[in-house]
Amino acid sequence: MSGKPFAPMPMLPRPAILAEKNIRETREGAQRIEALEERVNKLSTLCNALLITFQNHTGFTEEEFLGILKTTEKKQKEVVGCTQCGEILQRGIERCIYCGAPHAHALGKIV
Ligand SMILES: [Zn+2]
Repeated sequence: MSGKPFAPMPMLPRPAILAEKNIRETREGAQRIEALEERVNKLSTLCNALLITFQNHTGFTEEEFLGILKTTEKKQKEVVGCTQCGEILQRGIERCIYCGAPHAHALGKIV
């Protein structure tokens, strides 16, 4: 019996190998989330300590501070297009994070 030999099948990853890879990636993802949560908690504690210090040293009320916070958040949400590279940027940055154009270029046009 003659015939063409079968072309070799490409090696496919075995399901067990894929499962191990998925488990490893899931575990790594969970560890990264845990590390980020820890950093967020530390930042939250730091912000609270700074707020108390700020209030104690300036006499600002919590309402005044929240007003400043709200204004800052609003400014950060405004976006502009870099006149040099066209990327969308947050208002208030000193340089375009994509091309490095200085403040004047980075704040060229409101999108
Ligand atoms: Zn740019």
